[in-house]
Amino acid sequence: MIKNVKIISIEKKTVSDGYLEIDGKIIKKVNKGEPPIETLNQVSRVIDGKGKWLLPGFVNTHTHVGMNLLRGYSDELPLQRWLQEKMWPFEAKLDRASVAAARRLALVEMLKSGTTTFLEMYHLFMDDFAEEIQDVGIRATLMRSMIGLCPTEEQEAKLKEAKEFALNWHQKAEGRIQTMLAPHAPYTCPPNFIKRIVEEATALQLPVHMHLAETKKEVDDHINEYGLHPVHHLDELGVLKEVDWLFAHGVFLEDEHLEVLQSAKSVAISHNPISNLKLGSGIAAVSKWQQYDLNICLGTDSVASNNTLDMVEEMRMAALIHKGIERDPTVVTSIDALHMATLNGSKALQFEGVKGIKEGAEADFVLINGNQAHLQPESQLFSHLVYALNSQDVTDVYVQGVALMENKQLLTLDEEKIIYEANHEFRQVMSRL
Ligand SMILES: [Zn+2]
Repeated sequence: MIKNVKIISIEKKTVSDGYLEIDGKIIKKVNKGEPPIETLNQVSRVIDGKGKWLLPGFVNTHTHVGMNLLRGYSDELPLQRWLQEKMWPFEAKLDRASVAAARRLALVEMLKSGTTTFLEMYHLFMDDFAEEIQDVGIRATLMRSMIGLCPTEEQEAKLKEAKEFALNWHQKAEGRIQTMLAPHAPYTCPPNFIKRIVEEATALQLPVHMHLAETKKEVDDHINEYGLHPVHHLDELGVLKEVDWLFAHGVFLEDEHLEVLQSAKSVAISHNPISNLKLGSGIAAVSKWQQYDLNICLGTDSVASNNTLDMVEEMRMAALIHKGIERDPTVVTSIDALHMATLNGSKALQFEGVKGIKEGAEADFVLINGNQAHLQPESQLFSHLVYALNSQDVTDVYVQGVALMENKQLLTLDEEKIIYEANHEFRQVMSRL
């Protein structure tokens, strides 16, 4: 039980002083005031949450943490050159040890900044990572990403690997792992390959994740080659109505594309404002997206284009940038941004049990040290969470009722060793380049 804590319900837009009782993975009771003496005597552990705020953990709906050693490796290049000249050559030199070190570094960073769930879209050593997630206790949606710029046999071999991975790990680790199929993007996957992937996803009843309309060049090239915007092309291929989709970016989506997406089976879009800014891709029209029946969530993308996995920063950027670009302070409210950073994300990643701080929900939450100058006065907490919070204010992280960080100490990861090994592996990769 955590008592004496400020409980923040994003859905109800309420803050109440009270207690939270956890039974196994589940929130058994949320109530105002002091817990009854008989309950206090029954629970195995009571934590005094004095001065702390309790809210849902952050959900990062688009990243590639296998790339975590590429932080700062290349800044200030356009997407195509950045990928072809810097990212892909470096990645070609990654091996099992360096990818594992990169991912452990990401797990440390994510947990310390209050992320309880994330999506990993990557092609290397996915089984190793799923095993690690099983041990570490964090929640993740995993997929073996596929690039289809290769002969059909090679495409099919990738698809086979992706399917096997998805089947092996779907709903494993006590339900903390979900899987999807993931064509990388329309500019790296020919239409027939996307169709094949969606065919398999339909048979397996899995959602599909894909980069979409991230840069103007990519969209213009698509129109030149096929005569259609990628969204219209997907529609024409008949794949939008077959499966649940989670797209990343969507920087170049106009009303006519949003209408098509709204009429699809179900569409979530991961807004990645910092990555889009850093790569000079542009600014997605999120306040326009909000006029459609689409689930809008947030992602950091990889640290090669962000350069952190900090969802608090991403949330603040999402809340600020649209106000500036539209010269309208009323768009993307703090409540909108909090939904995008938490509950919309767990829905997009298909964790139905993760539904906020309420009875019967899975007990995924974070505690924040509210006793800090930048979070005073102690009122307007929803404003503070979006416009004043720092991710370093997160003190405790729980997933399925299990503490993964307590008083800023990680309990299932050796932070010092992981930082040392990440640097060692980075030097090894550089020596192979
Ligand atoms: Zn990405």
